[in-house]
Amino acid sequence: MAKKIEKALVVLSGGQDSTTCLFWAIDRFGRDHLSTLTFDYGQRHRIELECAARVAKHVQVQNTQLPIDTFAALGGNSLTDTDVEVGDQDTTGNGLPNTFVPGRNLIFLTFAAAHAYQHGIGHLVTGVAQTDYSGYPDCRDETIRALQATLRAGMESDIVIHTPLMHLSKKETVDMCARLGGLDAMALTHTCYNGARPPCGHCPACELRAKGFAEAGVDDPLLSVR
Ligand SMILES: [Zn+2]
Repeated sequence: MAKKIEKALVVLSGGQDSTTCLFWAIDRFGRDHLSTLTFDYGQRHRIELECAARVAKHVQVQNTQLPIDTFAALGGNSLTDTDVEVGDQDTTGNGLPNTFVPGRNLIFLTFAAAHAYQHGIGHLVTGVAQTDYSGYPDCRDETIRALQATLRAGMESDIVIHTPLMHLSKKETVDMCARLGGLDAMALTHTCYNGARPPCGHCPACELRAKGFAEAGVDDPLLSVR
């Protein structure tokens, strides 16, 4: 009997982490068995969608963009609501930065699982990490394991959610990216919460990215883009 080909779907935001995951997935599953999915959730920085498409094209893997406009309708967070300034101020009283979109990853992964199901794909790859981050509860390992169990039950599937960055620091993520030959693609990615290109350098996302590259002793290819 022929061995079943394992196909994987990478949730690609156009950022550093999901791009690193794409290289992890190329190494693990092979480029020919991969596709990528990007959510158009009304993010104020449309550049993210462009970056995702460019990264996918760079590695010659298909990219599908799926619209979800519900987060923007919910409002109250700085990633979709242009009335809310990006910053650390807490608008919800829950101790999380206002870049937090409640349940975002749960919804993304549920849609990704539905897309995977329809395309006979058994593996999802996501760049969530519980280290070095702003404390988003939907990025934690415990949350992802619980969601995987729910998706398996709810779709009667044996879908596997891979989180290769879950326990890595930003430095270790840069190390992984370099090891997997993904540094060139880093020039195509987007991280800045202010949507600036070249990046603003002072928002929490820019600072975290810069710290990771500095600790890894690697120059961020994005910073030499003109
Ligand atoms: Zn920035």
